[in-house]
Amino acid sequence: MTYFTIETAAAKHGLAIYGGFHADTTDGLPGGYETLLMLGPSAEFWTHFKTTPEYIDSTSDPIDRWSTRIFSELAKDLNATAFLPFGGPPYAPFLTWALKTGRAWSSPVGMLVHDTTGLMVSYRGALAFRDQLDLPRLPENPCHPCANPCLSACPVNALSAEKGYNTDACHAHLNTPEGKTCVTEGCLARRACPVSLGANRTAEQSAHHMSYFHRSQV
Ligand code: SF4
Ligand code: SF4
Repeated sequence: MTYFTIETAAAKHGLAIYGGFHADTTDGLPGGYETLLMLGPSAEFWTHFKTTPEYIDSTSDPIDRWSTRIFSELAKDLNATAFLPFGGPPYAPFLTWALKTGRAWSSPVGMLVHDTTGLMVSYRGALAFRDQLDLPRLPENPCHPCANPCLSACPVNALSAEKGYNTDACHAHLNTPEGKTCVTEGCLARRACPVSLGANRTAEQSAHHMSYFHRSQV
């Protein structure tokens, strides 16, 4: 099994490898695993996803249902064990794992920023392997240097590294006419990050995510 083989298998499902690491005693992985790879949407994800049964059947949580099916298939095909970021408790430590990959960092607005998808980073699952796989060279943190447009993009200052994510202020803004752009095109702060362009996130895809984020609050 090679990194390239896994990357190719994932790409067929609109997924990309967002990073990985070699296991040690601090990562919370069950014993016997040598490598963990984390995966998220590729630039082709939304086009691919719209052809899947989970999207077409128009019932709830299509992306989570799709992730459950696809990561089960990938694990079987690649002789790996799948982990998902939902479905707990207990929950797999995706945030800790993401930082451990060396391809995601805490951004000036608190949320994670990723080397190729910026503030649009989204982990759909992870695969653990018993082999020690060769991993690509690590990138530089894109926030150094950067003019930090993410810091001034939110109209209600709902994002802060010091105070965290003020979801109440965010949801309140989304209920106003001024918040309509966030609802229909995605979070202004996430979109302000130049690295987020690498996610190729369409307005339709962002609106889908925003509808799930905001639906319990309206
Ligand atoms: S806008 Fe710049 S500082 Fe903010 S998360 Fe993106 S790269 Fe980092
Ligand atoms: S969705 Fe809009 S209101 Fe909420 S954090 Fe992002 S920019 Fe701010």
